[in-house]
Amino acid sequence: MIEDIPLPSIDDPLDAPYWDAARRGELVVQTCSTCGRRRFPPRPMCPACQSFDHTWERVSGKGRIWSFVFPHPPLLPVFAQIAPYNVIVVELTEDPSLRMVGNLVRAADGPINQVDPATITIGMPVRVVFHRVDDEVALARWVAD
Ligand SMILES: [Zn+2]
Repeated sequence: MIEDIPLPSIDDPLDAPYWDAARRGELVVQTCSTCGRRRFPPRPMCPACQSFDHTWERVSGKGRIWSFVFPHPPLLPVFAQIAPYNVIVVELTEDPSLRMVGNLVRAADGPINQVDPATITIGMPVRVVFHRVDDEVALARWVAD
């Protein structure tokens, strides 16, 4: 477990619905109400049709590893003490252009340095899990699927 990790701001109206869903254990993305295109990360305007109207749509939480790295020092002290750990980029099954950055873990609340780096491959199927950091913040993480 990482103590004192920097946490995201969750009260911005732009992405608050994402954090609300994460607390419920659901992965959601913005979906344009005009053209139907999904987008992530959250932003005010649709990049396809410039509409500001959108909804939030739940996605399966399944995807594949599109890329990964093992950060090396210099790192923030809180991360230096657990290096090496993985950072993966996941492309979502619903739309591979939707990519999310996270950590591959063995279990939602497990450490982010527990997966053997030699076992991580591009294209590996993964599914989302949520690590509840506190009453406010739940972070999306990924496990092998
Ligand atoms: Zn649109």
